[in-house]
Amino acid sequence: MKAEPAHQIRLLDLQETDSRLDQLAYRARNLPEIAELQRLDTRIGELHDQLAATATELSDLDREQSKAEADVDQVRVRAERDTKRLDAGHVSSPKELEGLQSEIASLQRRQSELEEIVLEIMERREAAEARDTGLRKELEAAQAEREDAEERRSSAMVEIDADRSSAARRRERILAEIPEDLLGLYVKLRDQHSGVGAAALRYGRCEGCKLALSTAEIGQIRQASADEVLRCEECRRILVRTDESGF
Ligand SMILES: [Zn+2]
Repeated sequence: MKAEPAHQIRLLDLQETDSRLDQLAYRARNLPEIAELQRLDTRIGELHDQLAATATELSDLDREQSKAEADVDQVRVRAERDTKRLDAGHVSSPKELEGLQSEIASLQRRQSELEEIVLEIMERREAAEARDTGLRKELEAAQAEREDAEERRSSAMVEIDADRSSAARRRERILAEIPEDLLGLYVKLRDQHSGVGAAALRYGRCEGCKLALSTAEIGQIRQASADEVLRCEECRRILVRTDESGF
């Protein structure tokens, strides 16, 4: 293939711009903030789940407490009624009196037991409330951290996008200057050789595979005309002669 030396040099500019675009795409995909946001989203999700579980626990405890308090009231009212009857002195039969006193004593025991239950529920409620407060604080901190990471991610993306646009514009300008057949070969080789289709020949070395050319190869290149499109014997990339080629 033949191409003017100036077009071959322009191919190196295209390669540089394409590599720059590849780097920018890699940077955009691998911003540390992306992993950070994923981690924070998982954490925030877990905290929401834990908060929902705690809210259920709190409402269950509220219901339990109301029920236990109603039980206490019921027993207390009954004991008070019995005590009033006793105090009023209307009960005269010793058997009935004994029965009433024993009922009052048993109601009082029952009331203490039920009050114990209420206290125990209140303690559990306090613990659940403390857990709820802790989780809310943790959630708030995680959300603030997320906002911060999101801000850093988006300002990094703004920077990357601006660099991408200017590289893309540069690429368009360069493309217009490269003959179609040379461009076609470059695109094919770039696909095959991890993004690098054209490399400079620099001081007897291919910049694509970094290997020094053999004496025989250098001899052939010296004899080749300037518009001959050369290929590296080693990596098969387009080899472009520059002022720094060394001959
Ligand atoms: Zn090479």
